Amino acid sequence: MPTTFDIRTLDPESLNAEIDIEVLPLASALAKARSVGVEYGYFYIYWAGHPNAIKSGKVFLHRHIAAVTRGAWLREGEIVVFQDGDKKNLSPKNLLITSRGKRGKVKNYLPKGGDRQVLICEYCGKEYTESYSHAKRRKTCSPLCSQKLRRKFDPDPAELEELVWEMPTTKVAELFGVSDKAVAKRCKLYAIEKPPRGYWAKINAGYLPAPMEKDL
Ligand SMILES: [Zn+2]
Repeated sequence: MPTTFDIRTLDPESLNAEIDIEVLPLASALAKARSVGVEYGYFYIYWAGHPNAIKSGKVFLHRHIAAVTRGAWLREGEIVVFQDGDKKNLSPKNLLITSRGKRGKVKNYLPKGGDRQVLICEYCGKEYTESYSHAKRRKTCSPLCSQKLRRKFDPDPAELEELVWEMPTTKVAELFGVSDKAVAKRCKLYAIEKPPRGYWAKINAGYLPAPMEKDL
């Protein structure tokens, strides 16, 4: 299970941020993110709609930082590897953009004894390895993930529940690029309780406290 924790508890020191300019893309990412977590040793944030988010809305920080440093989002088939093999070292100097199936000159990211490339599942974010000759073709860790990746809207239930209490359904729908109905149907499917009718109107009128603002 991934550990999710509050942005406020994230120690920037643990990210090996060296100088301000290197923290900048990280800080802007964190400001937009709802929560930060670690999965398979990789830091991620939830940022649905990010050009380099995986299907569940997770954006791996090393991918974000590498793209921001380059000045262009990652394209289809591009991956980011840690040159020193340390997944906590998010210094842009340590992050190298390469391609699926490309061997490159990176020393330490190959698993010992294996002639395979380390990849991140584009659906669930799980780390998996693939032979270089097949790496270009496979984007997911399993056939199930491959099937789910093709589906348009497949939010994480816990994430969806948090979102519907944080903003009106229309905004949640906008975030995922789907209709209000699609969001409502998904809530029903997962038995997620949505705010009662008039909830957001009451908040707007000041009769109810607004959901907790992000405190950064
Ligand atoms: Zn997967």
